[in-house]
Amino acid sequence: TDITTSAHLNEVLKTINDHNVFIRMGLADIYGKINFLDINGKIHTDVDLFPAYFFQQALKGKEIVSQTIKDDLGDGFINFLAVPVWKEGKVVAVLCAVNSSEVFSSIVDLPSFNGRGFSNLINRHGRLIIRSLHADMKPDMFSLDDMGSFSPEQKLQAEELLQSREGGFFSYTSTDGLEYMAVLEPLKGVQDWAVVTVVPRNIITEQYGEMAIAIAVIIVMAFLIFLFFLFRLGRITSRNRRELERVAYTDAVTGARNYPKLLIDGEELLKSHPGRTYAIWHSDIKKFKYINDILGYETGDAILRHLTDILTRHQDGTDSIFCRISADSFAGIRFYREKQELALWFQTLKKGLSKAVSDQENQIRIDLSMGIYCPEKNEERISLNAMFDRANMAQKAAKQLEGSRFVFFTRQYRERILKETQMEAAMETAMDEGEFQLYLQPKVNIRKGDRIAGAEALVRWHSKEKGFLSPGTFIPLFEKNGFIIQLDRYMFEGVCAWLKGYLDAGYPPVNIAVNVSRLGLLQENFVEHYTAIKNKYAIPDRLLELEFTESLILDLNEQFRGTVLKLQEHGFICSLDDFGAGYSSLNVLKNLPIDVLKLDIMFFREGVDIDRERIVIRNIINMAKELHIKTIAEGVETLEQVDFLRMAGCDVVQGYIFAKPMPLKDFDELLRHQGTTPLTPTQTV
Ligand code: C2E
Ligand code: MG
Ligand code: MG
Repeated sequence: TDITTSAHLNEVLKTINDHNVFIRMGLADIYGKINFLDINGKIHTDVDLFPAYFFQQALKGKEIVSQTIKDDLGDGFINFLAVPVWKEGKVVAVLCAVNSSEVFSSIVDLPSFNGRGFSNLINRHGRLIIRSLHADMKPDMFSLDDMGSFSPEQKLQAEELLQSREGGFFSYTSTDGLEYMAVLEPLKGVQDWAVVTVVPRNIITEQYGEMAIAIAVIIVMAFLIFLFFLFRLGRITSRNRRELERVAYTDAVTGARNYPKLLIDGEELLKSHPGRTYAIWHSDIKKFKYINDILGYETGDAILRHLTDILTRHQDGTDSIFCRISADSFAGIRFYREKQELALWFQTLKKGLSKAVSDQENQIRIDLSMGIYCPEKNEERISLNAMFDRANMAQKAAKQLEGSRFVFFTRQYRERILKETQMEAAMETAMDEGEFQLYLQPKVNIRKGDRIAGAEALVRWHSKEKGFLSPGTFIPLFEKNGFIIQLDRYMFEGVCAWLKGYLDAGYPPVNIAVNVSRLGLLQENFVEHYTAIKNKYAIPDRLLELEFTESLILDLNEQFRGTVLKLQEHGFICSLDDFGAGYSSLNVLKNLPIDVLKLDIMFFREGVDIDRERIVIRNIINMAKELHIKTIAEGVETLEQVDFLRMAGCDVVQGYIFAKPMPLKDFDELLRHQGTTPLTPTQTV
């Protein structure tokens, strides 16, 4: 780049400066004239650096850090970093960067000896390169005279040490009368610098006794190593930056690209091949979590590396690229002529992957699910990120199928996206206009004459445009775009408002559960918000129940535990929804202090052997009982199931067998008449 005009140069420097910690930068000509640009955009023109020692050194071709200097253009103390700019073997300019000395000082003042020790970095002439903030010295000189008083022997020892540039100790008495010990250690390999660390003697003998001197040396050595690295870092910044970039853009486990890098390289790749047809793919290893759990993370990692290997081997020249997005997700771009080629390629991957595993001792099948998005020629160009999103949508469908499968992103998906876009556009107004309605599904106590024990609040969307929508169509979207937090809070407040009216009318207390999404749970003010609403409507303790789904809390166990305890303290009942849907369920119970387990009977229905299934359910109920956790069976549709659950010791049932979710007003009525007519099972499914 042309950096001869100062306007242009400032532009360049500003960009560079956005990425580092310098407070000021500029390029000096060989006469020492420089225009400085501050980090805040302020420009200082025609500053003269010519007389400065560091500038002269830089002119001679040295990269140098200046001693600490008082800042003429601002306040405080600064250090200059000067780097010569070469052209045809001659120094033609000097690049100068300025750092506040405090940046360095804060490093020098690493807490040692309870903060009572401090260090200075000095050069051969005793000039301060980096001064401690504690150092009670003239701004720029380190001299023995400033330190305190020396006995004749002490003075001799100290001077010798300073001259000889060997490491060693000396002691002295400071102006405040305390006896100090100083450790001097040359900074080998970095200019002619040495570190002097000073510590009050009584501290070290008090705390470290006989070991004091040895410990002082160790601390100083550690400090030196630190400094050494700091300066090495400074000197090889460019090499470092490349290394940093490599680390930033590489996946540590597999050595493949990471997703940010794929997006960068992908844009380039597509730009350089206009007119070629390409596929965007996204793949997952099925049940990878399970593989990790069973075979261990090392095997898991080995499988990921193996997949990376296969992908690299079948990359088809250098034209296709891929990355590891996270865990077991890989994605990439691949050029093709016929879609057939993609199918063949997938078969190759599939074969390669299965081979990897038969090499292992454990015979576990590893299946790959892949979604492929092939942009059409006449299609409007969406961002790469959006394309990977589409491929991922198709991938999720592939995951539902048996075995290793791939699925193309087709028109149905396009329609779904369209629908989602429309819902997204409508959701806020829908909330304002009350289109989201609170339905309640009764929970029935099958031990106490099938009486209503409470209800679960479930949302329904009565859309003016689209008619009646069930949660399955919009909750996943709201979970993605964050609107679920608002919706959950809206539902919760709706429940509280109704409950208050109901209780105020003198009816007996009833328990109502609401669902809480993962996102809501992760809000910092989650507990505070729910508690505030509960208090606003003066709802008594232990009537409001919050349902969290099992899959939601698995990966935030510790944090979730704390939240549950806090909620319970505030009078909430906490329950685990959809228990049995995941696979590590039992483990969760071990350390989660939840009150209620919601067993989704429908999840068990997939199993063929009904007897075995019942053994499992019975034992879960028993175990929960021993842990003082209540169980609710939901999704109960037949009388047979009710009988079994009653025998198994389950108290509460929620399901179509008793009642479907109903509008608030219907539930209200049902409850108020409960005294006269308890719910009876109806098999109307
Ligand atoms: P969930 O919390 O597990 O709720 C139980 C679901 O099972 C409800 O579906 C309910 O209608 C259905 N169900 C109950 N008994 C039976 C039965 O006997 N047979 C069958 N086939 N189904 C039964 P729904 O209302 O469609 O809700 C689906 C899911 O959407 C809920 O599962 C919950 O995870 C979510 N959801 C619903 N409302 C909300 C809400 O306000 N906030 C949040 N975050 N999620 C909600
Ligand atoms: Mg629920
Ligand atoms: Mg459930």
